[in-house]
Amino acid sequence: MPVFARARAKLPKSPAKWRSGLEAALTVSDIAASAAPLPEAVQAMVQAATSMLGAEHCSIMLLEDDGVTLVLVASYGLPTEVEIGHTLRVGESIAGRVLVTGKPLLLGEVDHDAFENFVPKSRRISSSIVVPLRVHGRAIGVLSLATSAPATSFDEDDLRLGQMFADQAAALIYRAKLHEEAEHRSSDLLALVEASKGLLGALDVESLLQSVLDGGTRLAGSSEGFVALFDSDSASISRGVFRGFDKEQIRSLLDHDEVVRAIENVDIAIFRAERGLDSPTTAAVGLRTGDGTRGVLVLMADPELIDDRRHLLKAFGQQCNTAIGAAELHTEMERKESEVSSIIQSIPNPIILVDAHGKLAGINPAAEQIFGISGSFSGGTEITGALGNEEVERLLTGKGDLQTEVIAGNPARTYKARVRDVRVPGAPMGRVLVMDDVTTERDAAQTQRDFVAMIGHELRTPLTIIKGFARTMLRRIGSVSSDDIGEALRTIDGRANQLERLIEDLLYVSKIETREASLRIEQVDIQQLAATVAKDIIEDHVGREVLLDIPPGLVWACDETKVGLILRHLIDNGLKYSDAPAPVVVRASDEGDELRLDVIDKGIGIVSSDIPGIFERFRQVDGSATRSHGGTGVGLYLCAQLARMHDGEIWVDSTWGKGSSFGFSLPRRAITSDVVRITSSEDAGINRGA
Ligand code: ADP
Repeated sequence: MPVFARARAKLPKSPAKWRSGLEAALTVSDIAASAAPLPEAVQAMVQAATSMLGAEHCSIMLLEDDGVTLVLVASYGLPTEVEIGHTLRVGESIAGRVLVTGKPLLLGEVDHDAFENFVPKSRRISSSIVVPLRVHGRAIGVLSLATSAPATSFDEDDLRLGQMFADQAAALIYRAKLHEEAEHRSSDLLALVEASKGLLGALDVESLLQSVLDGGTRLAGSSEGFVALFDSDSASISRGVFRGFDKEQIRSLLDHDEVVRAIENVDIAIFRAERGLDSPTTAAVGLRTGDGTRGVLVLMADPELIDDRRHLLKAFGQQCNTAIGAAELHTEMERKESEVSSIIQSIPNPIILVDAHGKLAGINPAAEQIFGISGSFSGGTEITGALGNEEVERLLTGKGDLQTEVIAGNPARTYKARVRDVRVPGAPMGRVLVMDDVTTERDAAQTQRDFVAMIGHELRTPLTIIKGFARTMLRRIGSVSSDDIGEALRTIDGRANQLERLIEDLLYVSKIETREASLRIEQVDIQQLAATVAKDIIEDHVGREVLLDIPPGLVWACDETKVGLILRHLIDNGLKYSDAPAPVVVRASDEGDELRLDVIDKGIGIVSSDIPGIFERFRQVDGSATRSHGGTGVGLYLCAQLARMHDGEIWVDSTWGKGSSFGFSLPRRAITSDVVRITSSEDAGINRGA
């Protein structure tokens, strides 16, 4: 359907009117085609209508948006005091009637008196035409033509001609309006695009807020404003960018009802805010990100512009929400990433990450140290061949969850290595390897196994001898001399004692470890104690000698049995690991606060690397020279625990091939009649010297 559809005009009756009708049509078409600005085109239309129809004056009035006011937009021949922009109430004018009915009017002199018009009543009107400006069948204004010449009066043909002018003028006005609206929209759109430019790709919240404020002020046609994000717990400002506002103004704006409402409803509010003497137009846009962060963009606004930009600002607010949400997410991801990375960096367990193509993607300092590579230099290199450990490389390039024990590092240690696939969002599957140092556990387990084997051996040796002698005597009962019987029984007794001591040692160890051991402190004559112990031991070391270098009458408060046990082990070791004729010397000295006891031999000595840990549980120096003497590795551990129970220390000075000097100290203590219960601890690492 054509835009300006209407009934086809009837042709004029007189040939003169034909001619002037045709001329009018040509003139109107010229004006329409001239592309002149709208006011000029409409003015030209009014002038043409006046002259074509022989009128005295002509005017076009348009209906305002309020629907009750007519405003003069073009006129010709009106008194000079009637200017463009002059207004008239619809109800008071003849134009109002035409507008309401949509029908053209041809008026004579009499009718004129009934209506208000621009023309003063003194100026008599003899004939006039009032026609509607119609668009889509709706009247948007009126065109009036009038003459006061008594001889002239308009007829039906003139009325039709007038209507033609009015329709053409309406078409011009409508097209211009459409054009203006389209331009307005596209300039709004451009403004939004311009304002939103800074939001794209900004992932740092601080610089993004700058862009939000830039874009907002641009849309609001000002340069001042602020944007603030609120802390979700305290509701105070957590971040913000401010331009042209002091703290007091910001505070009072944030408390303003309109701003509070905009924040709550995530909406836009436009209001006049008190700010000093003037009260400028202010726009507040409530912000809320997907994560629930609230905020507000407050802008000084150009009052001419802001109403038209309301929707635009709201759309801009939504874009801001999306952009701030993305920036927050990015910041959160960065924070998490650095958190995870610092955790991985500080973890003592070696960790290696490879990507889906078996290339090194990450390695922590613990792993860097073990495999002797640097993550920053070797990142992205093929893992196969990069670590110098085939087993670990095989795990990392394998499939699924794998776990095995590997030896790595220098000095070599045992690790339990576990590897599994890791899925990083948005990236293909990679693999992560975590290693646990299990060297201590494995060593302890090995020591335990060695101990069981050795203890079996140590128990069997004396038992075999006891059994052998007993059987021989049984077989030769009656034929054995009493000398032989005596000899055999002495051997059996000796071996049984050896067994008893061994079992006693083990029971002590067990008591200490279950924290059941206690001290019985009494005054002990040290020389006497050392002599008794030495005499007992020397029985097993034929041809050997123990020298006691102990001041007579040296008495010390300690647990006699336990100190005797320490001495027995140290003297026994001294004799075991040295040869005749060099004696083993036992020296004691009162050092004031403590009693110091040393057991010195000139034997095989101990390699310095074996000294650390020599007092550890079941530790034996694994050398043929020492292994040939048997033993259980319990002795020194027990000595250390017993010295510690006395709050004392134990240590060793030894040189390989020259001999050893084991010493221990017993602090001076008051004698108590009570049993002193002292619990032991595993940290028996009390040794001194080389
Ligand atoms: P063992 O029953 O094997 O002697 P110990 O705990 O008494 O157990 O001694 C642990 C290890 O320390 C011994 O196996 C030996 O290698 C070394 N050791 C102890 N005392 C001496 C010493 N006087 N001279 C050389 N080596 C010694």
